[in-house]
Amino acid sequence: AELARRCRALIRDIPDFPKPGIVFRDITPLLGSGPVFGEVVDALAAICRRAGWRPDAVVCPEARGFLFGAPLAYRLGVGLVPVRKPDKLPHETRRIEYQLEYGSDAVEIHADALTPGRSVVLVDDLIATGGTLGACATLLTEHGVEVLGALCLVELDGLGGRGRLAPVPLHSIVHYP
Ligand code: 5GP
Repeated sequence: AELARRCRALIRDIPDFPKPGIVFRDITPLLGSGPVFGEVVDALAAICRRAGWRPDAVVCPEARGFLFGAPLAYRLGVGLVPVRKPDKLPHETRRIEYQLEYGSDAVEIHADALTPGRSVVLVDDLIATGGTLGACATLLTEHGVEVLGALCLVELDGLGGRGRLAPVPLHSIVHYP
């Protein structure tokens, strides 16, 4: 709760970004704070430990997911598997289309990045509708990869993302209504 309070103080509301009527939660002030950024990464690792998750890899969507996925993977001592927008990954990919808060989109993962039977944790900066993380989870489970859980710095509770991700458990550090 104390960390959540300090995170909130470093997350800035940007009205009408990227579209009129949307309030964007800007996490860049938090990223810019060495102590708080470090504590967030430690807290994400602690959540994994407490939940008993022992992932083979951390999977994170571009671009802000990378910012938390990379230090978390390092902290857990496991690899990182990037999920990217279409046509960014150079090798053979598997793709899934999904609905986004701001339209529709697709994400891709390298087809050979994870073999069936591996287990992973998903990480992103923020969950809104759950479209992005839900698509990642589907992409993985359809391939026989076990998604132990998902981690976010910020959860927008009112948009039902947690429900869209279910039955994958989600832990978030900061909640907004
Ligand atoms: P969802 O797919 O859950 O609707 O949206 C979450 C995705 O969009 C995440 O990858 C996140 O980075 C981005 N996103 C949507 N809204 C916001 C926001 O207000 N702040 C930030 N930092 N990212 C957002």
